[in-house]
Amino acid sequence: MQISKRSPFDFAIIGTGISGACMAYHLDKLGKSVIVIEKDKIASGGSGAAGAFLSPKLASNSPYTKFINSSFEFSIKFYKENFPKFLKSNGILRILKSQDDIDKCRLYEDILPKNFTYLRADDIEMVKKDVSSFGGYFFKDGATIDSVGVIKEMLKVIDVVDSLHVESFDYINGYYEIGDIRAKGIVFCAGNSQDFKQLEYLGLKNIYGHRIDVKTATILPFHLHKSCSISASHDGLVHIGATHIPNYKYDKNRDYDVEVSRMIELAKSYLKFDGFEVKKVNFGVRNSSLDFFPTLGQIVDVKKTLEKYPYIKKGSKVPKEKYIYYPNLFVHAGLGARGFVLAPITSKILSEHICTHSNIPKRLETQRLFVKFAKKQKSGAPAPDVRDFTPLF
Ligand SMILES: Cc1cc2nc3c(=O)[nH]c(=O)nc-3n(C[C@H](O)[C@H](O)[C@H](O)COP(=O)(O)OP(=O)(O)OC[C@H]3O[C@@H](n4cnc5c(N)ncnc54)[C@H](O)[C@@H]3O)c2cc1C
Repeated sequence: MQISKRSPFDFAIIGTGISGACMAYHLDKLGKSVIVIEKDKIASGGSGAAGAFLSPKLASNSPYTKFINSSFEFSIKFYKENFPKFLKSNGILRILKSQDDIDKCRLYEDILPKNFTYLRADDIEMVKKDVSSFGGYFFKDGATIDSVGVIKEMLKVIDVVDSLHVESFDYINGYYEIGDIRAKGIVFCAGNSQDFKQLEYLGLKNIYGHRIDVKTATILPFHLHKSCSISASHDGLVHIGATHIPNYKYDKNRDYDVEVSRMIELAKSYLKFDGFEVKKVNFGVRNSSLDFFPTLGQIVDVKKTLEKYPYIKKGSKVPKEKYIYYPNLFVHAGLGARGFVLAPITSKILSEHICTHSNIPKRLETQRLFVKFAKKQKSGAPAPDVRDFTPLF
């Protein structure tokens, strides 16, 4: 591609998962020029491996549940209005696991997105009886997304450079330089990448999972979720997926096929399949913050901020406006198990923040994780490696 034509850009976005694609989509709509850089090929990270189920959260009235369910409603509308071709709106059946589940779901029904029905075990025909004995909630708006398709569509009108692994960049005269690419700002949408020391204070954790594409004659008319998810059948295929290995670090001695077999057995315990041929096993890693909320906003320069305000470590409050930030360096990450549900709204919030200085809700902002990180440091103790870096610019 002709990078020089539009360079310098307003923003270089690193990563072509759902995070980077949604950020590019919103920043472009807000009139910013963007380029998206990918180390591999489009959607080759966690997003490409995802089952991409759009499903609400049940049985709680926590702020996180409320946030997920409002994001769920937003995402359904977003994909329906802008990318209807990639939305498979079959409805989703969430199987309950216990009487306690039923009680909690009933108690917090007002937190659930609209258009749901409680189904008793007898009403659920396709699912094996011992699995569905507590019934389930059917959400008419539940759906899956063609993950790679929707990302490619979002990036269709955007400059994308693939096969470029960003390992460092310079900041010269108000521009970031990544090889030949120049941009006024950078947005990190790099998923579970460990490449950027500036992001280490966020403390994001990696969880590994699979999506297994299976050919079967069984016609499942709705998406199904219990401990793993099974998609409605399309063109003779169902997708079985879950992220299930926490604190993931690649271990060459681990037999990941065992995990795949376990997930297949789990899916088979839910449904009687008429034929079952594994066509493809996709695997990927997604990341989450310690409080599960995504993290978005400008990146705090941890070293300089703690040098200036060392007492933050002891719990003293310093207004976030006084922190020292890397100029025009932003992050949109920690989308957890629901990246496709969250990215449409969180990327909109961050794009508007970047363009109009609108507020980012406190629970989502990067500063909350900085305060947590700082308080963990013992006063007087030598700074741990993660903060003791030389900025790259
Ligand atoms: C098996 C599995 C099943 C899932 N199921 C669902 C689901 O049903 N519903 C749902 O909503 N979510 C699901 N998720 C979670 C969802 O996929 C993630 O939340 C989402 O993909 C995160 O998107 P991302 O763009 O932040 O990261 P990624 O998709 O990982 O994208 C990051 C991109 O950045 C690139 N990159 C990294 N470092 C660099 C660098 N230095 N230079 C250039 N490029 C770089 C990577 O190659 C990658 O393409 C699932 C995840 C997995 C793994």
